[in-house]
Amino acid sequence: TDRLKGKRALITAAGQGIGRATAEMFVAEGAEVFASDVNPDLLSGLDCEVLTLDVRDDASVRAGVDRAQPDILFNCAGFVHHGTVLDATDEEWDFAFDLNVTAMFRTIRATLPVMLKRGGGSIVNMSSACSSVMGAPNRFVYGTTKAAVIGLTKSVAIDYIKQGIRCNAICPGTVESPSWLDRVDALGKQLGSRDKAMEQFVSRQPMGRVATATEIAALVTYLASDESAFTTGHPHIIDGGWSGQ
Ligand code: NAD
Repeated sequence: TDRLKGKRALITAAGQGIGRATAEMFVAEGAEVFASDVNPDLLSGLDCEVLTLDVRDDASVRAGVDRAQPDILFNCAGFVHHGTVLDATDEEWDFAFDLNVTAMFRTIRATLPVMLKRGGGSIVNMSSACSSVMGAPNRFVYGTTKAAVIGLTKSVAIDYIKQGIRCNAICPGTVESPSWLDRVDALGKQLGSRDKAMEQFVSRQPMGRVATATEIAALVTYLASDESAFTTGHPHIIDGGWSGQ
């Protein structure tokens, strides 16, 4: 229960889903947690410091980092675009890259000087199994952005490896969260049956179920803690066997 004692942690998109489950686990492990989200209403009920932070806005990112002074940064914010290359518009592409990739450039650029001053740190970036790990149907823009996250992660890791800063990515399969349930509803409308949509999502997971947000939070906690001191620059796959066959 003290795996993160003495550490300060900043989490983006902590209002719901994986970000929120991670904030709760970090608190339980003794970290001083700064849970942020663009929508502050979602942060109520969390037992830690909460702040409004829009990862698409550099001033907002800098203000959040200034307040949190983090040793741990969990870049969780991201958005799932639905469709193939022929379905995507320039605007959708730009929005997805800004939220899923450029936002990490902003938060890491703001956080690194703090970590360097504090003598080290751990950065965990949200990628996906759908990335350079594997393709998934109708996830053209999404998979491209999440592959970019892995490249970004490796670059930061190699540049700062000698200064005690680690940077890893996590690559989950399908995880139960509010936005995932919205995706199930949307596919259900398309297929004329929500049960069929649920079955489609679940059947692509060889374990026959999707992950809970808490299962993903456990990997983030490991990567944030000193237990993972010997790993940096890697995509850590946690996908119920989806990409493993
Ligand atoms: P979610 O999609 O249900 O919630 C997203 C959160 O992001 C919301 O609280 C929202 O307010 C916040 N947000 C949106 N725009 C923001 C901005 N500009 N600045 C700050 N916060 C913002 O949560 P989830 O499904 O757990 O997804 C979290 C991350 O995990 C995403 O990056 C997603 O791509 C990734 N991921 C999810 C799954 C899955 O199946 N759920 C699988 C792999 C990866």
